[in-house]
Amino acid sequence: MCGIVGAWLNQGGAEDIADVLIEGLRTLEYRGYDSSGIGVLRTDIGSSSSAENVKVARRQGRLENLEEVLKDGSLKGANVGVGHTRWATHGEPSDENAHPHTDGSNHIALVHNGIIENYLELRRELEADGVVFASETDTEVLTHLVGREYAKSGDLGGSLRASLRRVKGYYAVSVVGNMNGATELACARQGPPLCVATLENGAMLASDVLAVLPHTREVTYLVDGDLAILKPGEVVIETIAGEAGESVEREVTVIDWDTEAAGKSGYEHFMLKEIFEQSEVLGRAIHDRLLPTVGDVAFEGDGWTDPELNGIGRVQILACGTALHAGIVARYLIEGLARIPVEVDYASEYRYCDPVVSPGTLAVAISQSGETADTLAAMRLAQELGAQAMAICNVQGSTLTRDCGRTILTHAGPEIGVASTKAFTAQLIAAYLFALRLGRARGTIDETEGRKMIEELRHLRPKLEGLLTTDYSDHIRKIAKRHLDAKGFLFLGRGVNYPIALEGALKLKEISYVHAEGYAAGEMKHGPIALIEPALTTLVINTKGRVSDKVRSAIEQVKARKGPVIALGSDPLSAELGDDVIDVPTSSEWLSPILNVVPLQLFSYHFADLKGCDIDKPRNLAKSVTVE
Ligand code: GLU
Repeated sequence: MCGIVGAWLNQGGAEDIADVLIEGLRTLEYRGYDSSGIGVLRTDIGSSSSAENVKVARRQGRLENLEEVLKDGSLKGANVGVGHTRWATHGEPSDENAHPHTDGSNHIALVHNGIIENYLELRRELEADGVVFASETDTEVLTHLVGREYAKSGDLGGSLRASLRRVKGYYAVSVVGNMNGATELACARQGPPLCVATLENGAMLASDVLAVLPHTREVTYLVDGDLAILKPGEVVIETIAGEAGESVEREVTVIDWDTEAAGKSGYEHFMLKEIFEQSEVLGRAIHDRLLPTVGDVAFEGDGWTDPELNGIGRVQILACGTALHAGIVARYLIEGLARIPVEVDYASEYRYCDPVVSPGTLAVAISQSGETADTLAAMRLAQELGAQAMAICNVQGSTLTRDCGRTILTHAGPEIGVASTKAFTAQLIAAYLFALRLGRARGTIDETEGRKMIEELRHLRPKLEGLLTTDYSDHIRKIAKRHLDAKGFLFLGRGVNYPIALEGALKLKEISYVHAEGYAAGEMKHGPIALIEPALTTLVINTKGRVSDKVRSAIEQVKARKGPVIALGSDPLSAELGDDVIDVPTSSEWLSPILNVVPLQLFSYHFADLKGCDIDKPRNLAKSVTVE
């Protein structure tokens, strides 16, 4: 799950390719950051028929380590190259295992995102042929396969195609090469994302449009099975399959995101910036979708008709991580408001649990990036088994939105912080809107109730803004400081706020590496109560509503065992019991998760910051998990 970038600029232009690649990698570092590297070469002015050999620089650790190495200027003056920021799957993070890999001949440099599943047998075969390996990666196997073909044919695109046909697994791969003075830049996709773009003075490829945006807004997403050959001013897309590959047309997407939106805008961390963007996200997510006069909502694009929604007999939600928690909230919303049975599965479990899909099943996949490998595979399986498909996704044009067709876009804008915040609240908003639409279509919500729900949603924004202030944030920082030495945390919630307890715990462990567990408040007495003691902090989410009395008993049980309690939510009686209190304004119970999660995000942020953790790039994690 790394970031790949590749570019070819006409020689003689103002930009140096090493700078362009580093700039691209900086925007992709969220995808992997345990090592990075670039491989470049220089073609003669205006021509691809004469070129130097490839030069490579690679370094373990953050991108700045690579930049340090490049300061010697040894890779300056080139105009074609590939770059990579790694999230190791095979072989520890080290200089040797960092990409690009070469075949030892200096003719090619190859970068790869994904896993080559049959790498061991291919490695044995190559070693038996005398190939000497310089790394422990699966990627190097592909590099040698390509290198051998290229040495025979002098055709890099063809060599990549032939080699990929020997490989099992999934990949986004790019290779730059020079043979007999002629240069080629190629890439291919089978799984992880890859987009390509033609520039006025060149061509580019990247794992994420963010890396291409400073150069152009017109990009083409490759689909699985595509192989692209790039030259200045020209990108040709062909299939990997077939001896010579068939030429294919892919449409150009015009990206309307601002690069500014991907910057930190004065915040110390992307995570904080993204937390503070959440009221805007709410505005965007409901814009043009509410029909207040009839108490309903309408989604853009391929909407659902009422009879179609009435035909849904069961919903299966498939997601991972934070998106899974949004899925559990969606379950409460859809069952509570539209009275349709809902199951929520870890996408990674669904894939191998031999799931049953009955007629009338709607599978809903939730993913920020739309490239999460487990979610994509689970959704494909659900579709094969006959389910209808819908995506809740932040990235238009991603694999998930293309696979599903029907999509509710979450409109959160680019999310760079590895710990998801605004993308999560945007998923909650999408789930609320969908549950309302379902309920209206099926008659479980009448027009008056629908109007009321819309009204409540409209009133949510000022409440959210009230939480996104420096005072509120500082108050939470002080509480985080008081609990900095806790040996662990228990997060409790009930009903629609139970998944918010799960999310609060996940956020804290992701970025501060402190053990935290999320639990259903009513379940605490069946086990986790054994953990309660003065050194373990319990954070209880309690919203005024149906279950507030019950949740309050959990607080009493913790206090009776001398456990410190942080009471969070709109229930005033819980606030009286808490050692520390985080107030949240009242709202309808269905919308309370959106408000409650904000102070939890701030709590993890401040806790991790006080501990001196690397908030935007937590250890061992990466943003979009494109490996199984
Ligand atoms: N499997 C490759 C490696 O471990 C690529 C990992 C990635 O996607 O960053 O080097």
